[in-house]
Amino acid sequence: MKKILTCLLIICGFMKVSAQQLSNYRNFEVSVYARAYEVRDMADPKKLEETWNLISQQVKIDKIYLETHRDQIIVPEKTLKSAISFFKSKGLKVAGGITYTINESNNFETFCFSNPEHRKKAKEIAEYTAKYFDEFILDDFFFTSCKCDLCIKAKGDMSWTDYRLKLMTEAARVLIIEPAKAVNPKVKIVIKYPNWYEHFQGLGFNLETEPGMFDGIYTGTETRDAVNSDQHLQPYESYLIIRYFNSIAPGRNGGGWVDPFGSNYLDRYAEQFWLTLFAKAPEITMFDYRSLQMPIRKESRATWQGTGTSFDFDAMMKPFKLKDGRTVQPTTIARAAGMTFEKVDQFLGLLGNPTGIKSYRPFHATGEDFLQNYLGMIGIPMELSSEFPSDGNMVLLTESAKFDPQLIQKIKDRLQSGKNVMITSGLLKALQDKGIADIVELKCTDRKALVTDFKTGWGRFSKSSQEILIPQITYLTNDSWEEISAIKGATGWPIVLRAQYSKANLYVLTIPDNFSDLYQYPPDVLNRIRSIVSRDLNVKIEGPSQVSLFCYDNGTFIVQSFLPEPVTVKVLVRSPAVKISDLLLDETIEAIALKPEFPVKDTVSYHSFEITIKPHSYKVFGIK
Ligand SMILES: [Zn+2]
Repeated sequence: MKKILTCLLIICGFMKVSAQQLSNYRNFEVSVYARAYEVRDMADPKKLEETWNLISQQVKIDKIYLETHRDQIIVPEKTLKSAISFFKSKGLKVAGGITYTINESNNFETFCFSNPEHRKKAKEIAEYTAKYFDEFILDDFFFTSCKCDLCIKAKGDMSWTDYRLKLMTEAARVLIIEPAKAVNPKVKIVIKYPNWYEHFQGLGFNLETEPGMFDGIYTGTETRDAVNSDQHLQPYESYLIIRYFNSIAPGRNGGGWVDPFGSNYLDRYAEQFWLTLFAKAPEITMFDYRSLQMPIRKESRATWQGTGTSFDFDAMMKPFKLKDGRTVQPTTIARAAGMTFEKVDQFLGLLGNPTGIKSYRPFHATGEDFLQNYLGMIGIPMELSSEFPSDGNMVLLTESAKFDPQLIQKIKDRLQSGKNVMITSGLLKALQDKGIADIVELKCTDRKALVTDFKTGWGRFSKSSQEILIPQITYLTNDSWEEISAIKGATGWPIVLRAQYSKANLYVLTIPDNFSDLYQYPPDVLNRIRSIVSRDLNVKIEGPSQVSLFCYDNGTFIVQSFLPEPVTVKVLVRSPAVKISDLLLDETIEAIALKPEFPVKDTVSYHSFEITIKPHSYKVFGIK
């Protein structure tokens, strides 16, 4: 790893010297969260010493969150005090935590904030916590799913969304922030948001009001297994959600939060950590103190292990030496976390600020849920923001943008100032009777087509390996143009359509009915899509889906594969670069071809580099 650093200092002329005094890592802090159940057990000093030794010798930890309440369990004062002094004596920063659940195992039963007794209890817990901590965080559950008779009556004629947004904003102020600050004026209160941002408003998480009311926010980056776990979140979200929340609370998004649940193999656990860190999260919280004691199971060693992947199971299992000379034999999943942090910390400081194609989710919007993450999975570097992006040569708008009543005017303004816009078929459908025809007359019909054949240019055909169901979009001949087509039988429909308006183009991207069928688009189709959207970036990739690209503003970039087998992709870098460096291997890669598959229609030219990525692995590059 020393080689990497030397190499990078020369290549990038870029040196990260952290101003922060971090005890364990150069580029981030690592925290562990302890639930009220485990904090309560900390009354037993022998057990506490044992569990802490077990965890802390396998992963270096800077900070601990000690929870005071969960599921109506309140940790007694005496235990809380002794736990705080124990962790302080170990040199850790100590903060508090609250989970507002009545019974987590009953569909995450939350407090009822229409119920005076629950409200009283919520306030008391905030006050109690503020007494012992100068900082505390609210875990995932400061929302409400209650539909009791009190809530039904209080809601009246409002929608559940409107009622709960209002209710939780009021509860945050009256029951949490004001009472806690009355007890401890210094207390910093952080609200941690879970991973289901697209649905927050329906349960009262208010991204419009709360980030300004709390002292900080925090981000759930746990994406788990997309197929097995019911949320079906795409891995890319572990990165994108940090970027999104950074845009909502610039400089006040405290970090990302990962747990080991819902994944079949340990690579996925590690991957969530490093994706969070690729987004430049300043802190990682490991949930939780109990699960870090879970033994490493041999079943969680993935089939591709032993081939030199980014997460190396066998290397993780090897005994290692601590600074004090003791040898540790890894036994629990804490070591998977520890090894991941140590590896990422070697190069993270060499990356600049993340950049990508901007997308837009107005507050409380929903539509084509979580689609930006699927777009990240097909190799489009995404940035998601709560403000309409007026800069950049391209924005990519999905259906959720329809919640902005000024959207069509904003799209027109962009086009008239010479900046392109891409909208999805879902957004077209939402806007087609709401004024988009003023820009171009198109229709996303209710007819569907089941396709496997695609055309990306004259006589240029490719096939998907399985049938994809797409909506049929119709347009007026010579008014707009098929850039990419899907073919079935003797006819076809646009996959990307281009319509010129004023000084720029409006593009429409057809989204399959099953979003994950985006992954089935053949490389030729994906390459063309990437080429159209990527003109603001100096790097793009060509190849199959489920390979993501992470770009930074200092000429570094990361290519990550989520595929279960090795994959070879082309990296296209804007001229004049003719070399790139693999920063982890300290190797230089020369350009192999000067012509990309789809040169954009301006004067920009690219150099092409071929790289192979192992399963669930990443490579870090710098442009020479
Ligand atoms: Zn209720």
